[in-house]
Amino acid sequence: MQKLVQGNRSFLRGYFATHRQLFEQLASAGQHPETLFITCSDSRIDPNLITNAPPGELFTIRNAGNLVPHPSLPGGTAASVEYAVEVLEVENIIVCGHTQCGAIDAILNPERITHLPFVSRWVAQAAKLREILEERYSHLTGEARMLAAVQENVLCQVEHLREFELVRRRLDAGRLRVSAWVLRLSTGEVFDYDPDCEQFLLLQDPTEEGTGPVSLGSP
Ligand SMILES: [Zn+2]
Repeated sequence: MQKLVQGNRSFLRGYFATHRQLFEQLASAGQHPETLFITCSDSRIDPNLITNAPPGELFTIRNAGNLVPHPSLPGGTAASVEYAVEVLEVENIIVCGHTQCGAIDAILNPERITHLPFVSRWVAQAAKLREILEERYSHLTGEARMLAAVQENVLCQVEHLREFELVRRRLDAGRLRVSAWVLRLSTGEVFDYDPDCEQFLLLQDPTEEGTGPVSLGSP
């Protein structure tokens, strides 16, 4: 805890001091984030760090497994999606999963978490993922199976987002874009789902000279 206290003092002297104007403006003018970023609670992910986004740019929802519960279920995730889309009018929604995700492991192996009733109930809503893996990836084991699960889970959550009428309306009107990302923890690289080739491809800056598409591996 002491580390965090010292960290805040250091933040005030450092980053805050050099960005005072930004914080004052955010406090007086309110927030106008362009992006709703939905990711896992995992401590190894820092949405602002991996996107180099300053405060005020990402409206963030975090939960175990970056799940988007069905619209018929009440909860903090649906409320934050509604607020981001209807009030803040974000232009992008990104669902960002990650490699080595404990929640995905729990979804695939519910017998390992029976002693955790809240976790069990939470991940039970994603049980469909096991069926998808069974149907399409029964030939995979170990890391490869996990990677396929991480990717398919992100795609499932994007589908859930489309089930929100308020999301669908804006997608149809061309006022919203939904993306599926996977962060590879070991390299910091982010892969974006390309529906044309049905692969997660390494994010590339169009202004930089690229090396051609780099795939995370078959989803
Ligand atoms: Zn996770």
